[in-house]
Amino acid sequence: MQKGNIRVQTENIFPIIKKFLYSEHDIFLRELISNAVDATQKLKTLSSIGEAKGELGDLSVTVAIDKDAKTLTISDKGVGMTAEEVDKYINQVAFSGAEEFLNKYKGQNENNIIGHFGLGFYSSFMVSDKVEILTKSFKEAPAVRWDCDGSPEYQLEEAAKEGRGTDIILHINEESQEFLEADRIKTVLKRFCRFLPVPIFFEGEQINNPVPAWTRKPSELTTEDYQSFYKELYPFNEPPLFWIHLNVDYPFNLTGILYFPKIKQSYEIQKDKIQLYSNQVFVTDEVKDIVPEFLMLLQGVIDSPDIPLNVSRSYLQGDPNVKKINNHITKKVADKLEEIFKTDRAEFESKWESLGLFVKYGMMTDDKFLEKAEKFHIMQDARESKFYTLEEYKTAAATLQKNKDGKLVILYATDPVQQDAYIKAATDKGYLVVKLETIVDAAFINQMEMKWSDVQFTRVDADITDNLIDKQEDSSTVLSKEQEERLKKLFEQQPSGLHLTVEVKGLSPETAPVLATRPEFMRRMKDMSAISGPM
Ligand code: ADP
Ligand code: MG
Repeated sequence: MQKGNIRVQTENIFPIIKKFLYSEHDIFLRELISNAVDATQKLKTLSSIGEAKGELGDLSVTVAIDKDAKTLTISDKGVGMTAEEVDKYINQVAFSGAEEFLNKYKGQNENNIIGHFGLGFYSSFMVSDKVEILTKSFKEAPAVRWDCDGSPEYQLEEAAKEGRGTDIILHINEESQEFLEADRIKTVLKRFCRFLPVPIFFEGEQINNPVPAWTRKPSELTTEDYQSFYKELYPFNEPPLFWIHLNVDYPFNLTGILYFPKIKQSYEIQKDKIQLYSNQVFVTDEVKDIVPEFLMLLQGVIDSPDIPLNVSRSYLQGDPNVKKINNHITKKVADKLEEIFKTDRAEFESKWESLGLFVKYGMMTDDKFLEKAEKFHIMQDARESKFYTLEEYKTAAATLQKNKDGKLVILYATDPVQQDAYIKAATDKGYLVVKLETIVDAAFINQMEMKWSDVQFTRVDADITDNLIDKQEDSSTVLSKEQEERLKKLFEQQPSGLHLTVEVKGLSPETAPVLATRPEFMRRMKDMSAISGPM
């Protein structure tokens, strides 16, 4: 029997592991199952290149509770470990066998190895008084038993074990008895292990789908496959509007499927969020810094081993890979929307009520997206079912809709029923009125007036004729010098100063009140007619 000290830098790492490392204790199970999956994947790799001989047989991972013995056991039939390997990989905290394996077998299924996830194996001490490893390597070597009670001291000895693989036996500590409850374990497994690539059994039941849709080739998948995967993720939701299959391997690795959910009424806070995975291991559904904010309304899965998992949020925002991933997703989403818009505009329009939210939010917050979205952002006629892009709106209006500065005036209704009389009056004049009635629209209008320097939005029940000039502009009356002087004086007298530095030349009803959104001005206009005679 060999005895020795676990080699770590600090004198005793265990108290740290136990108390501070993870607020979520459940992740120990994720770590141990990740290792079991890695051991299995390694065996498959070695077998495929002839380094592991013979039939591999059943390769599933099993989780079992023994309430009497107060143990939780995770068993795999993977590569196992020799005594030397236990000494190397287990006794040295922070020495990653996964990393070593990846370096050695570069190019061989390397993406299948989860590895370096968190603290890994030692997180088991968060919930255990003692941890035992019983393992038998696929190589010709005796099985070994290792145990450690949470002090830096371990024991390692030869042992009897039938088959190849590893059992990790956790003697669950007093505070963590919850992990001897089947329901608790099932919940944790469902959360972290639902899509791991090796079959995982608990109480006779397989708890995972080893080949989730996002890991398959888009060309192999049907509409039903995408929809049933959505149902698997969000069983109670209505079918999604459409989806984007992400599949990148350079310059970063990223797969996933993003779904556009049906949003019934304006802004519903989404509780079913995008889930982040790393090599099919669930990491988090707090993807705030990984996904552009406006895409947080989307649902589905992103899987990328290139997103750093154990660093602070603020670091994550500055991470170059995360930035690239962000840009990539934005681009993909924009491309997809453009594609649908181009190939099936009717379909696109029919979904605009839900889609419009993403698109507008994206246009407001992301200039790259804005650039692309200008092509497919549409506005619906206030009275008809017709939709217009900005370009189309410009050409569709029968009467030239420009203001004094030459900006395009977009007339909009926030409540087509209430504002019907105004809409009618405007349409009768040949103007085009669209509806901008959702909760994002107020902010959208605001932002777009800043971003689209040649566009001004005017509400249909504002004094619209005052905001617009049309062809009659040319025939507008021009004030005489004298009238202009008097007019200037009139305004200069007013302490509130209505920014009347603007030249007042033509005072036709269309042009003058460009400045006059305030009632005071209207009052003065009346005064002015007294001065200059009827206009
Ligand atoms: P990592 O997974 O990042 O390498 P861990 O602390 O989780 O770090 O595990 C350390 C090493 O211990 C692994 O890389 C592997 O070599 C070995 N190991 C852990 N669990 C198993 C297992 N079930 N079967 C075979 N080897 C294992
Ligand atoms: Mg690990």
